[in-house]
Amino acid sequence: MSDTSVGQSDQNSKGPLAKYEPVIGLEIHCQLSTASKLFCACKTDFGALPNQHTCPLCLGLPGVLPVINKTAVDYAIRMALAVGATIRERSVFSRKQYFYPDLPKGFQLTQYDLPYCEHGHLTLDNGRRINIERIHMEEDAGKNIHGDNASYVDLNRAGTPLLEIVSAPEMHSAEEAVDYLRKIHAIVRYLGISDGNMDEGSFRCDVNISLRPRGATKLGTRTEIKNVNSFRNVEKAIAYEIMRQADVLDSGDSIRQATLLFDAASGRTAQMRSKEDAPDYRYFPEPDLGPLYISSDRIKAMAALIPELPEAKKKRFQDDFNIPESDAAQLTEQVELAAFFESVVAKVDGKVAPKIVANWINTEYMREFNNRQSKWAKPILSSDALGELLRYLGEGMISGKIAKTVFEEMLENGQSAKAIIDAKGLVQISDTSEINSVVTDIIAQFPDQVAQHRAGKPKVFSFLVGQVLKVSQGKFNPALVNSSLKDALDGDARNS
Ligand SMILES: [Zn+2]
Repeated sequence: MSDTSVGQSDQNSKGPLAKYEPVIGLEIHCQLSTASKLFCACKTDFGALPNQHTCPLCLGLPGVLPVINKTAVDYAIRMALAVGATIRERSVFSRKQYFYPDLPKGFQLTQYDLPYCEHGHLTLDNGRRINIERIHMEEDAGKNIHGDNASYVDLNRAGTPLLEIVSAPEMHSAEEAVDYLRKIHAIVRYLGISDGNMDEGSFRCDVNISLRPRGATKLGTRTEIKNVNSFRNVEKAIAYEIMRQADVLDSGDSIRQATLLFDAASGRTAQMRSKEDAPDYRYFPEPDLGPLYISSDRIKAMAALIPELPEAKKKRFQDDFNIPESDAAQLTEQVELAAFFESVVAKVDGKVAPKIVANWINTEYMREFNNRQSKWAKPILSSDALGELLRYLGEGMISGKIAKTVFEEMLENGQSAKAIIDAKGLVQISDTSEINSVVTDIIAQFPDQVAQHRAGKPKVFSFLVGQVLKVSQGKFNPALVNSSLKDALDGDARNS
């Protein structure tokens, strides 16, 4: 530690990370996709006119009583089961009291000392198990909107059901935190309990982060970065905060506990407020709502509704389709993508190996899907259309190169693979006499290369294959060109 410069960050990531170990915990807020709010019958649709979806209860008017949304509880139970958490038979909603314009009641109903579930876990790609300390249900607040000359309050979101999923502080890098977040995101989407839409704020997270000297066991003072709403921003915010805290510690200062906001434009965190302590909220059990009881029968009924989850699907894809783990992981990250893959595999009907289907989807298809900001509700190409194209490839009607051309054409004009292949005469030529005649021409045209091939020089053969394919404009069946050329060269050798 001979570095005497104060406050100068070492941009080499080895610097702070060699010296300090980051300790990261995530609190994920996930909006449940119920039709109505957690304690009233107001709709939860995104994008309505301001304050369109409100009633006396979510406006905080006196004289109305909350009634819990059964579907929200059912969804919450499914989430608990999906991460192996223990469900409490009796849990309690408490008032978390604070004043904010988007919270007209003056308190938020949330679960405090008795959350409905605890002690879940999941396993990261690197094999590390991350514990989930607790998951609780709570209602969301409204939204303050600040204009040029005035501020407004929109209470459409007030009372929307949320799950808060709290991890143990057990992650040690931005990569681990993002992997954890992606896995939770995939689970809620598979379960169908949330749309997971990060742009609309349905899935967002608070990041707790502290540094401690490598080898130390005691936790350092942490800061909390609020409401980060994309995987990329979580990664950037953590990377920035690690550097910032390392600078502070290197200069001999100590970290002050604080709530921060991440500004995506500048890539920096800034202080929002110093951290209030939990007792300031004066939690107490909601008197207008009895405890929530969850019976073992209800848990069993929910367990029966849990679909195959990402981890299990990934393993099955590896086993059933004989594809590598990395391909299976990519395909199962989104539930719709996994279904799309299976549907294309069914469509090609064994004519193409699933590994080739996986490659096509993970590279060609997803590149265009993302470039065109496509949605699964209306994807760039249906699984039937892609399956048809890949079947022609498998049947040898078109080459891999032509398949890519046809794919692009399909995206541009929406025609079927067959229509494009017919209209442009792209059918692969497997007529051996036609191929043999071009092979003979090429052999005559390149005597030097033919001599080199006979002298045992490798690579010349592929050059000659390339020349034949070039003449055919990519239409000759490459396997047949190979064998024809091989026969011709060997035959010539025998004859001479
Ligand atoms: Zn309402």
